[in-house]
Amino acid sequence: RVVIVGSYVQDLSFYVAEFARPGETLPADLRPGAGGKGFNQAVAATQAGVPTLFIGAIGHDAAGAGARDFARQHGVRAEFVVKKKEPTGVASIAINAAGQNQILVALGANLALHIRDVPIRPLTGAEVVVCQAESDMKTAAHVLRTARRQGAVTIFNPAPMHAKVDLAILRHVEVLIPNEAEFVALVNRSPRSGLKNFTTEALLRLAPDRLHALCRTFNVPIVIVTLGARGCFVSQPDVYARVNAHGVDAVDTTGAGDAFVGGFAAGLVKFNKNVFEAAHFANAVAALAVTRHGTASGMPTAREIARFLRR
Ligand code: ADP
Repeated sequence: RVVIVGSYVQDLSFYVAEFARPGETLPADLRPGAGGKGFNQAVAATQAGVPTLFIGAIGHDAAGAGARDFARQHGVRAEFVVKKKEPTGVASIAINAAGQNQILVALGANLALHIRDVPIRPLTGAEVVVCQAESDMKTAAHVLRTARRQGAVTIFNPAPMHAKVDLAILRHVEVLIPNEAEFVALVNRSPRSGLKNFTTEALLRLAPDRLHALCRTFNVPIVIVTLGARGCFVSQPDVYARVNAHGVDAVDTTGAGDAFVGGFAAGLVKFNKNVFEAAHFANAVAALAVTRHGTASGMPTAREIARFLRR
């Protein structure tokens, strides 16, 4: 079983011809949907065919009721902790004609998910436990520490990039999954990397053995850097390799990273903890997700993934 402790956010996606400038009001098409990194990942893992439990916080409001409806309709097992004072997280997402996005997120209740809100019982017996950086970090550290002690594989996705992740959390992490920007931010903040002005451009020019060496500086057994349309780079203590993405026509890459992380967690369970097979599977889940609009609602089913991998 997979357990994902993290964020639920109501996505308000506004489709516009071009982004508004300061002071401007523009007409838009609105598509509301379920989102939040943790929840998206839980939907991806559930639909990929592995029993998954999501634990997260919502407010006592209409958006919170929407969370329960979505979970019920999509067969996602979710334990929502209802906060009385804080509202459900909401994201305002503007998407222009070129498919680029601008996102504002008010995390609300997610930041009030306390250690005492997370029951220990689901963590015992979980094979894989996943956290992100979109909820209270003390809670995430506690969850990962507890889960690892119980023998689960712990995955940490240090997203979003602007989150000031305390590197101490990495002690409890078995698999670290950043995207390029998050990896660059971590490298610049890690004293062991010896780098302060590392950039994404520099990352793209790096030879595989150098990238592997940088991954090793985090002292985390497995580091997987997602590389968009180029797939991902997997670094384990004694082996490293890039795992290619699957060629698709992307229409909306919002939530690609979440599809990957949820798909990877499910893949670890499906493929008996084989990291490379799980990464290949995760690339397929994410490839299908980018061919559709929406985040949580764009996640593929086990049957669709199987058909895609047989192409
Ligand atoms: P994020 O959404 O966090 O920025 P990435 O852009 O690295 O994350 O994408 C995560 C994963 O999604 C990639 O590792 C890859 O598997 C898949 N992916 C993203 N963009 C594409 C694309 N254009 N074609 C195929 N797969 C993609």
